[in-house]
Amino acid sequence: MATTRRPSRSRTLFPAPPPVQEAPVIHGDLAVLEHWLKHYWDKLQLSQAELNVLALTQDRQEYMRWTGKRLNTMALGCYCYIPVPALSARQRASAPADVLLHRHLIFIEPAMQAKSIEVTIAHELIHLADRVQGNPRRHRHHGYDSIAIDEAAITGYPVEDLRALLHEESLSRERVRRARRPIRYVYQCPGCGKQYPRTRRYSQAVSCSSCDKVYNPRYCLALVSTNGTDTAQSST
Ligand SMILES: [Zn+2]
Ligand SMILES: [Zn+2]
Repeated sequence: MATTRRPSRSRTLFPAPPPVQEAPVIHGDLAVLEHWLKHYWDKLQLSQAELNVLALTQDRQEYMRWTGKRLNTMALGCYCYIPVPALSARQRASAPADVLLHRHLIFIEPAMQAKSIEVTIAHELIHLADRVQGNPRRHRHHGYDSIAIDEAAITGYPVEDLRALLHEESLSRERVRRARRPIRYVYQCPGCGKQYPRTRRYSQAVSCSSCDKVYNPRYCLALVSTNGTDTAQSST
């Protein structure tokens, strides 16, 4: 549920948020999202002006296009602030009106229990409120920091319950991820016997990091099993 900690080091993409409409852009389970959005927007005493520049989606790919950044596959929610772009006077004159506005972008993982959807919306709106107040906080420890205290206060759920919920949802997210990218290859060190499960084959020779910190052909990993390849083909 963190905002991106550092600028993406991979490709430099430009944010492409959706056009500003009269109402916030909401893509996903509309009735539920609108309900909790309104509930916590009012509780946090956020303004109508900020609501108009909000866009929320439950689609990971869409969120990445909007923000121009990659989204951690384990993230259950994410808030991203897009500042007004630095433009020359000439560019400003010809830019569409909504390009001259800042934007709030939120992602909410759809495959979660109802209570988790609610608290994740509350959580991301706390990040948004912090930003609006000019005091964005970073997580020191998810579920244990000042943001977690605020989340408990605003939702009325005990902080221990919120921690348990976060843990449960993280495990189920991990299971989904594993099912999509099963471990197909198991490599083993000829020295210590340590196994290295992999979703893909290594593209070059790799040696055991436990036996030698630098590449050492004596401990070159050997492919010992290719589980999953056959099951994938027969699962039609
Ligand atoms: Zn967070
Ligand atoms: Zn080894």
